[in-house]
This record gives sequence, C-alpha cells and structure tokens, in this order.
Amino acid sequence: MPESFQNFIGGEWVAPAAGAYFENRNPAHWDEVIGCFPRSGREDVARAVASAQRGFARWSRTPAPIRGQVLQRVGDLLVARKEEIAHAMTREMGKVLTETRGDVQEGIDTAYYAHTEGRRLFGRVVPSELRHKWAMSYRRPIGVAGLITPFNFPLAIPTWKMFPALLCGNAVILKPAEDVPHTATLLVELVLEAGLPPEAVQLVHGYGADVGRALVEHPEVPVISFTGSTATGAAIGETCGRMHKRLSLEMGGKNAMLVMADADLDLALDGVVWGAFGTTGQRCTATSRLIVHEAVHDRFLQMVCDRAATLRLGSGLEEATEVGPLINEDGRRKVDYYVGVGREEGARVVVGGERATGKGLERGWFYQPTVLADVRAGMRVEQEEIFGPVLSVIQVGSLDEAIRVNNGVKYGLSSSLYTRDVNAAFRAMSELDTGITYVNAPTIGAEAHLPFGGVKQTGNGHREGGWEVYDFYAETKVIYVDFSGKLQRAQIDTET
Ligand code: NAD
Repeated sequence: MPESFQNFIGGEWVAPAAGAYFENRNPAHWDEVIGCFPRSGREDVARAVASAQRGFARWSRTPAPIRGQVLQRVGDLLVARKEEIAHAMTREMGKVLTETRGDVQEGIDTAYYAHTEGRRLFGRVVPSELRHKWAMSYRRPIGVAGLITPFNFPLAIPTWKMFPALLCGNAVILKPAEDVPHTATLLVELVLEAGLPPEAVQLVHGYGADVGRALVEHPEVPVISFTGSTATGAAIGETCGRMHKRLSLEMGGKNAMLVMADADLDLALDGVVWGAFGTTGQRCTATSRLIVHEAVHDRFLQMVCDRAATLRLGSGLEEATEVGPLINEDGRRKVDYYVGVGREEGARVVVGGERATGKGLERGWFYQPTVLADVRAGMRVEQEEIFGPVLSVIQVGSLDEAIRVNNGVKYGLSSSLYTRDVNAAFRAMSELDTGITYVNAPTIGAEAHLPFGGVKQTGNGHREGGWEVYDFYAETKVIYVDFSGKLQRAQIDTET
C-alpha cells in the first residue's frame, strides 16, 4: 500500500476536503508508486488562504533580519539533507543525480542570499524640494503570495519564489506541479523545522485546473508567481489582469546556441550536448536550436551526432546514466509528435527519433537523444517549444543571419554564442533578443544571485533571482516627514 501524503494547511498536515488522492510514479520505472498525494480543490485553497492571512499578520511584523535568520537555517538544513533530497527528486522527476544535487544547491544559494538580504532590503532617502522635510521610501510586505511551480526544477523553482517572498514578510501558499509533489513536501517540512511560523507557509497539492486556478481566482491572494508553459501563463494573466493582481510569469523558451566559423568546436560540443540533452531537454533554458555557420556546419553536425549517439540512457539514480526519462507519457508523446512534424517539414533525423527501448528502459518514459538536421527558420520544430531531448540544427551564412534566426521566435529566454571574435561577441550580447546571453558557454547555467527571466512571450517583465525579485515581493511605500511646523505645499511653495 503506497504512503499517503497530506497538505499543510492551518499549521498541520491534513487530508484534502474531498478525500481524493492521485498517484505519483517514478518516470524511470512507472510500476513504482512514490506515494498518493491530495487531489485538493477550492475548499482546501480557501482554508489555506484564511490560515495564510493569520500567518501574514504575525510574520510580516517579524523584523526582516530575523526573517533572514530563519532562511539561513533553511539553507543549513538543505546543506545537511542535500543528498537525501537529491535522491528523492531524481526518483520522482527522473533527471540524473548530478543535476538534482545542483537543483538543491540552487535552493541553498537562494536561501543564503535571502538571509543576507534581510539586513538590506534597501529603501531610499532622497532630498525633498522643501526645507525641513524628509522624503523616503521603504519596502512593505504585501500579503499572501500564491506560488505555482512546474515539474522540471522541483526544489529550485519553489525556493526562487518562496524564499524572497518570505524574506519580504509575505505568507506563501505553494501549489507544486502534480508530477513532483514529494520534493515540495520535503521542502515544506524543512522550512518548518527551520523555525518558520507554521501559518506563514501552506502547501496545497493537486491539479492546476483545480488548485492552481482556485488560488489565482481567490480575491485574498494579491500576489501570484507562476512558472510553467506560456499557454497556462496566458490564462493566469487574464484572470490576474481582471482582478488587478501582482503577477510574475516565467514561461516557455526556444533557446539557441550560435556557433560561428571561428568557434572552439570542442568547447561548443561540450556546451551543446549539456545544453540540449541535460535534464532530458526539459529545461526552460534548454538548447533546442543549434545555429551553425556554414563554414563549420558539416563538421560540427558530425561531431554533435557522434556524441549524441553515445549518451547513456537509464534511471537517473544510477551514476553512469547521462540522460534520464521524460516526466510522463504526455511529455514523451509530445516529443514523438514533434519529431514527426519535423520529418514532414523536411528535416532529416540524423540521430535518435524514436522512443528508447532496451534493457532497463522498458518501463520508463525514455526517448532517444535526437538531432534534426536541415531545419530551416520558420519550421514548427524551429519555432515551438518541444521540451524534450531534440536538437534542431539550422545552417546560416553570417552572424547577422544567425542573430536574425535567433530572434525570429516568439520566446526570448536564453541564447548563447561561441566565437573568439570580441567584436562579434559584443554585437551579439546587445542584439540577441533574450533575457540572458552566454558567451562561450551553453544556454543553461544561471546563478542564484543574478536576475533570471525572459523577454517576449517568455515573461511579463519581472525577474526571479538576484536583487530584482525583491522588488516583486514588496510594495514600495513613500513617506514624507515635514518638521517645518507650517503647511508647505509641494510644487507651489518651492524656492527658485
Ligand atoms: P504547466 O504550465 O503545465 O504547469 C505549471 C504549473 O501550473 C503546474 O503546477 C500546474 O499544475 C499549474 N497549472 C496548470 N494549469 C493551471 C491553471 N489553469 N491555473 C493555474 N495553474 C495551473 O508547465 P509544466 O509542464 O509543469 O512545465 C513546463 C513549462 O514550464 C515549459 O513551458 C517550460 O519552458 C516552463 N518553464 C519556464 C521556466 C522559466 O523560468 N521561464 C522555468 C521552468 C519551466
């Protein structure tokens, strides 16, 4: 009998109101049930919001440096449990242990950054135009923040949202992706152990259309932070716009690596293999397009294919595995569908292109690392997010064309350029239309203390990570103190 897990609402672990549960399975061995998790609904969300409001009343009055100390303890506990959490995460999400260790490390970095921010949270004091008057701004907590997260970074993305939201004095309700509820449960257990007042955090499991939607539509949740697909983000944006909610959206990507004629091809090879097939291609920053200069195209394509064909598939828990399974059957079906679309559009499947079979792969959602050659700008496999181990290779004749191809998609998260020409690098840095550009490094590799996010349909102008996310989770309040003892009218009683 698989273990049943609970929601964390009102300061205790509780069953969902309707008593319904869903199963969470290991994507590398679908016979293995990790546990049953609450299939919650509107009633559970309403109880979580009422409790979070009580949590907010207390937590928002706790001095920010003290809030920071709680997050420091969270960081310490993540350090102590890194290995245990990484194993649990690989088991439920599928990516290899090296990557789930990195996922936990990102949570640790985010916790320690939040800790130190508790002693900053800077406001400003600026001169007033009137004598004997001070003018300043400071940051106030907002209220209850609803955090809706995707499956691909089961620990890191919840921490990107939860830690800055808490540091700013908000209470949080986490709605994790239904494919990774176990890691979210471990995270909430850990923040409680670190000393967070119980009602400052709520965990409500369930499906997006039930719990996610109820959270977004709840009038007492003024802040929503969402990471996931562009389609879901658009629906959430409509509701939040109508209800005047503060909303951060981090959505899809169609990231490209540009390899110029003068690039160090061995370096670019390591980068593209890691960028395209790491996390089985299920990263928002995954390299899904390779834009190569014609002078090195054939040689580099051969190098990429040779390497991609040797990647070892298997359970991410085995240290020798390089590529784990996809998250579920829908994910694998989508990859298969797009490979078919590519074939119909005239792309050539040079490596992979099939569901992976073989010993140890029979009962998991495995797909062969796939390289599509002869892809042209404008094809669907060049434009649409596949979210799997598929790399589309496009040949170009110049840097100008490469930049044009890179920018010709609706997404704008990450880009990368391999060149030894400093002028080309600086041109690309300013002209590539993405939130992040890497030079001589792959499209993945964001660090927790820098802002993270994309332009165009990847985002809505906000950033996670770094110093900028603290603007999102705090309201700026402005204070004027007039100690002149008389009425001074701004813009009217000024001196020339
Ligand atoms: P998804 O949109 O299917 O789900 C994300 C979350 O939204 C889940 O928790 C889901 O339950 C919830 N949800 C679904 N429907 C909802 C609704 N109507 N209302 C409220 N919540 C709802 O995305 P996914 O498949 O879990 O993740 C993959 C996507 O996430 C990809 O498009 C990827 O690019 C994107 N992503 C983006 C970033 C980034 O920072 N830009 C990072 C990671 C993943």
